[in-house]
Parts: sequence; structure tokens; C-alpha cells
Amino acid sequence: MRYISTRGQAPALNFEDVLLAGLATDGGLYVPENLPRFTQEEIASWAGLPYHELAFRVMRPFVTGSIPDADFKKILEETYGVFSHNAVAPLRQLNGNEWVLELFHGPTLAFKDFALQLLGRLLDYVLEKRGERVVIVGATSGDTGSAAIEGCKHCENVDIFILHPHNRVSEVQRRQMTTIFGENIHNIAIEGNFDDCQEMVKASFADQSFLKGTRLVAVNSINWARIMAQIVYYFHAALQLGGPARSVSFSVPTGNFGDIFAGYLARNMGLPINQLIVATNRNDILHRFMSGNQYVKDTLHATLSPSMDIMVSSNFERLLFDLHGRNGAAIAGLMDTFKQGGGFSVEQERWTEARKLFDSLAVDDAQTCETIAEVFEQTGELLDPHTAIGVKAARECRRSLDIPMVILGTAHPVKFPDAVEKAGVGKALELPAHLSDLFERDERCTVLPNDLKAVQAFVSKHGNRGKPL
Ligand SMILES: *Cc1c(COP(=O)(O)O)cnc(C)c1O
Repeated sequence: MRYISTRGQAPALNFEDVLLAGLATDGGLYVPENLPRFTQEEIASWAGLPYHELAFRVMRPFVTGSIPDADFKKILEETYGVFSHNAVAPLRQLNGNEWVLELFHGPTLAFKDFALQLLGRLLDYVLEKRGERVVIVGATSGDTGSAAIEGCKHCENVDIFILHPHNRVSEVQRRQMTTIFGENIHNIAIEGNFDDCQEMVKASFADQSFLKGTRLVAVNSINWARIMAQIVYYFHAALQLGGPARSVSFSVPTGNFGDIFAGYLARNMGLPINQLIVATNRNDILHRFMSGNQYVKDTLHATLSPSMDIMVSSNFERLLFDLHGRNGAAIAGLMDTFKQGGGFSVEQERWTEARKLFDSLAVDDAQTCETIAEVFEQTGELLDPHTAIGVKAARECRRSLDIPMVILGTAHPVKFPDAVEKAGVGKALELPAHLSDLFERDERCTVLPNDLKAVQAFVSKHGNRGKPL
């Protein structure tokens, strides 16, 4: 499989190189040159497979030529073996023909484990073979950091530095990062906000001289391997509900358009999906595009669903590329317009095409709390605020009651106690067994000023299993 850039100017890469690449050299994102397509018979024959075996069948075409089958199978068995629920991604029924796909049974209780547990293992496998080491520098406002650290903690060939805004992530989220120890794990609290952290990561990719030749790898959702891993659970859910003979709809809480883009790919790979619903919080750039053809940057709003608090959706470029007939020059132009003026609209027929592919809704904090309370009352299930946004959007945008509606349950409610409390649900939140002593554990973290040079000096001093690069 070869991968090409959405801006058309960077060299095509194989899977191994795309795994290590991050952004393409022309500023674009990598996508498969040709998407694999499965027949209905083939998909039907996968019914009943354990999660890791289904994962092998769905992802195999993407890694062909880079990872032999036997090795890939072993990696997948290990990856999904760490999940605490035997079904890995179980479905829970909320209402007649309405289901939550529980994607929070991984080590850090959010769906990001599906991709980052795999990414860590793939990196180590590829680096071992090459005899190379890499450094990861990533920024987090919450869930990505802990999932990336959990995914990389056993990697022999990776040092990981995660930047979070000092005193601006929840205590559970901070402790999920800072209580994991290893000579290759480095938590940095920046005296600044999330944007400052993200800017430092971007600047570090732009000028890598501080790394003295060591390669820098991206762990945010622009990394293709993360999208790839998320395609699998769309197939998994549909097969449980009578697919592919029956089509299924999905409602996806989204910020960076990563998770829902994976659903779009699943559909293009042959999975019958009826509706794909984009569910955003008040940071609604995606909803404003879907409902009014305005992709325009707004200010950042802090919400009860912080993992979707974004101003720009980084993966949206991948959809735009398809909407524009995979014309890289057109995308480079649009992105330039966006950079200059903070927004754009697309041609009418391209927008009409997008409207055929997706429905959308923006849900505010009050509606999020109402939905948490309503679902708790109806079913006894406690939703996290991100998942609640998905449920609200599913109920508002649904076109057919005969087609199963699956809401992606992106996090465990215990991660977001503020929202649960505001919803007025009188149920005590309990950490799952493997995290029950989280609040008693020692923490390890370095506080650094909001200063790029200080952060880069720290990375070069500790980037080789705690020793200088
Ligand atoms: C990251 C995250 C999201 C948003 O995912 P995208 O891929 O950015 O759309 C939603 N919910 C939770 C809990 C998350 O951690």
C-alpha cells in the first residue's frame, strides 16, 4: 500500500514510512492511494470473529508490504488483549434500536487507546527492525497524553515527552499521565495553555535541530495509523447488529474529525452505513460547515466536553481532499486561504456532496447535562459528556427508526466528574479496578516555563532513555 499527501507535492510513502512521518513535507496529511474495498460476502464471513482477528482482516491491506501477516497478527492480539472487557468494544442498548458502542475499556478509559495501544507496538516493531530510535513530542488537553504514554511505556526504542498545560487538565487526566513511570516517559507541565503546548510541538517539527538527528514522530490524530485502527470498530459494531445484510447508522462525538473520518472510510471500504452524524460541542466549526458551508475559525470555548474543544479540525483536510476529486493543488489553495483569512466555503456541488455523506448537530453544555440526566433516568446508564453529545445528536438527526443507531461511547464517565455532577445525577463515580488507587499513587512531572528553548533543551537532555541525545 502506498500513501499520498493531500497537498500533492510530497513523495508517496509506504506504510512503515507513513507511520514515522507525521505531516507530509508539503504540509498535507497522508491518505491511502487506493482504499481497499471488501465484498458483502467477505464482510459477512467475518461475523463472530474475536476483535483482534477482525482487526487483522480489516487492516491487513493497509500494512501489506511492510509487516508480515504472522507478525501483524501477534501485534494485534497483544494490543487488544490489554482491554479489560472480553468483547473489547461491547454494545450496550439504550433504547429500541439505539446502542452505545463502549470504546472505553482500554487502559486509559477513552477510545484513544484503540489507536495508541497499536501505534506504540507498531513503532517499536518497525524501529527494532531498522535499528533506530525516535522521540515523540506531543501536546495534550487531556485524553491523548495518557493514551500515548500507556501505548509507549513498554517501547524499547521510543522516548515520549507529553506537554500539558499546568493546572489546566483534570486531576484524573493528570494522574493518568504522571503516575506512569519509566526512563523513557517524560511529563512536562507548561506554564501556559493548550495552544501554547501545541505551538511548541509544531515548532519542534518545523526545526528539529535540537534532536541531533533523532527522528521526531507525531502521536496526534494526523498520524495515519491512528485513523486506520479506528476503522475496525465500525465493522465490529455493524457485524454485531446484522451487518452487512442490514445497514447501520453511527453518531460520532467529534473534534478533530478523526474518529468520524474512520467511519467514512469504513463506508467507502464496503460497509453499509446509512447515516454518519457529526456531533460537536459549542466548538462547532464542523457543524457550521455541514449546515451552512462555512468552514470558519471561531474563538475557543471551554466546555464540559474538553476533549472536543478545538478551533480547527485537523483531519477535515482528508475529507476535503476526496470532495475535491483528490486534487492536491486545490487543497493547498484552500488551506492557504484558511491560513490567510481564517475561513472558506467550497463550491456548491462539493458541499452538496458533503451533505449527502454527513448529518450534523452542535450540542451545548446545558443540553449535554440534560441528556446525561435523561439517559440515566431512562436506563440507569451514566454517560460521559462526549458520549452524551453523540446521543443527543443521534436523537435529533435520526432519519429511520428501523435502522440501528450506534453512538460511539468515547470515554468512561469517571474521567469527567464535573459534567456528571452538573447533570445532577446522584450516582457515585467509581474508578475501575486497575485504577482504583490512582489518587494515592506518586506522580512524576516537570514544570517548565512557556518557552520553546527550555522545552527543547529538556528534550535533548533526556531524549535517549533519560540520557542526552
Ligand atoms: C479525542 C476525543 C474525542 C474527539 O475525537 P476526534 O478524533 O478528535 O474527533 C471525543 N471524545 C473523547 C472522549 C476524546 O478523548
